[in-house]
Amino acid sequence: MKSHSEYLSFNTKNRQEFINITPQVEEALKKSGVKEGLCLVNAMHITSSVFINDDEGGLHRDFSGWLEKLAPYGIDKYQHNLSGEDNGDAHLKRTIMGRGVVVAVTVGKLDFGPWEQIFYGEFDGKRKKRVLIKIIGE
Ligand code: ZN
Repeated sequence: MKSHSEYLSFNTKNRQEFINITPQVEEALKKSGVKEGLCLVNAMHITSSVFINDDEGGLHRDFSGWLEKLAPYGIDKYQHNLSGEDNGDAHLKRTIMGRGVVVAVTVGKLDFGPWEQIFYGEFDGKRKKRVLIKIIGE
């Protein structure tokens, strides 16, 4: 069995951002040489996500608005922030949007459904964060 691990680094300009990381994952898959297997992609921080959805700007603004309604930013809004942090909202947003994804690899390609793309979701940015890509198979 082949195995390939790779780490992507991020340091976003904004506190919240969505970044399409599909090209980087496809590049990692090429390097792995895997033709049949599984590709795991996950955020390595508890205030950021990796998720799959459409690369459409309106939808991304909808995600932002929806998340802000569910878990608005605010230092005095969360018990977690009593610990001296200000990112209680970001932990909740991360949990809603998920830790990571697994995509099947078929004939050397990510076996997506229609319009599926992989995104990094940052909810407490402006600092160094990482994403793990792990590909296993034959
Ligand atoms: Zn925190």
